[in-house]
Amino acid sequence: MENGRKLLERYARVVGSQVIAQLRELGARLEGAKVLHVNSTAYGGGVAEILHCMIPLMQAVGVQASWEVIQGPPEFFEVTKAFHHALQGHRVDLTEEDLKLYLDVNQKEAQRLEDKLKEADFVIIHDPQPAYLIKYISPRRGHWVWRCHIDLSRPFYPVWRFLEKAVVKYEASIFSMPEFSQPLPHPQFIVPPSIDPFSDKNRELTAEEVFKVYHEFGLDPSKPLVLQVSRFDPFKDPIGVIKAAEMAQRYIPFQLVLAGGGAADDPEGERVYQEVVRVAKGKKDIVVLKLPPTAHLTINALQRAADIVLQKSLREGFGLTVTEAMWKGKPVIGGATGGIKLQVVDHHTGFLVHTPEGAALRIRYLLFYEDKRREIGYKAREFVRQNFLITRHVRDYLSLMLSVCMGAPDRLELETVESCVWPSSTRAAPLL
Ligand code: UDP
Repeated sequence: MENGRKLLERYARVVGSQVIAQLRELGARLEGAKVLHVNSTAYGGGVAEILHCMIPLMQAVGVQASWEVIQGPPEFFEVTKAFHHALQGHRVDLTEEDLKLYLDVNQKEAQRLEDKLKEADFVIIHDPQPAYLIKYISPRRGHWVWRCHIDLSRPFYPVWRFLEKAVVKYEASIFSMPEFSQPLPHPQFIVPPSIDPFSDKNRELTAEEVFKVYHEFGLDPSKPLVLQVSRFDPFKDPIGVIKAAEMAQRYIPFQLVLAGGGAADDPEGERVYQEVVRVAKGKKDIVVLKLPPTAHLTINALQRAADIVLQKSLREGFGLTVTEAMWKGKPVIGGATGGIKLQVVDHHTGFLVHTPEGAALRIRYLLFYEDKRREIGYKAREFVRQNFLITRHVRDYLSLMLSVCMGAPDRLELETVESCVWPSSTRAAPLL
């Protein structure tokens, strides 16, 4: 527990002791409860990143949190990747064998994890890959909640209908934004994503660490830096970003950096990357960087080096790059879409734009007025501190767990939660 105390103290220095006190209070109501998270990957991707920092925080407030990862052959992950595309609206053709493989892996994994799944007071299943575990566990003792991290607003229906048969068995589900949900016969909770201020992507860096990126990528430290970090994807509108930069560069000098992940396993990403390189060719203040997936510190340093961060998406899920930049006190110019609208409060924590022209106008404005950059950047950081750090995420989970176990259709206020008893708890007596 000593480590837990230290961990909470560390977060308290960032979010304030009241936030931590509230987590402790919620944790006290859940003390001893066994919470099992299940997803399909231990590394890579936002879900794993969140679980890595969420589990120790939950443990620190007294909950017996643990995490299991389902295993399957590569073909299983091919099928679940197709699920993922389908649930985000793409038409995919899945065969009977594909569905059988998916169900077989879920059945096998349910057997492997049976004791843990039956022991837990709360089972939180992340995303579609392990969604069918529920079908193979009977009787079920704990509260089962399905956590969906993807945008289900316009699914390809044949695949959603299949998945829905499992989802309706859960006691509740969680979505990142109201728009991402589907009608379901149980309570739904809205829990936006979050970032960890202590991860490599977000931790404080020394001035030398930040400055290193100028040398590494041949950037000019005397010129303002405008940055967009994104996968090379048409929906991130990299070509629109270049257009915006060229328009603004006619009036004010700056360098644009478009930094994005390697796209070896994604033919479309490679095509978009090549297109961006072609459009940027010969333009000396437009730099395209291809980064490896492990480049967390580089992205952190680029975001900190930037004067302005763009995320000119045409369609976006949540937009973690926006959260990351705002946390670093940067004014963000974001496309008015998806979760960007939740984070960028137009004219306050950044600017929302619809066109390259709009983005160009805001770039000029922000580069011209340093005081506005500072003011907006400051508000942006505070907005993230209040709303999009991992501590808020943990608080949402704890409070919704209490709501679920009290059978409440909505979140409960702390004072209404009095007597939960966890059968699995090592403590014999009721908690309160
Ligand atoms: N990211 C990264 N390398 C890249 C591009 C993006 O590590 O080359 C990270 C980025 O910092 C953020 C996440 O991947 O943490 C992207 O999340 P976001 O919600 O912005 O967009 P998505 O790629 O999920 O559509």
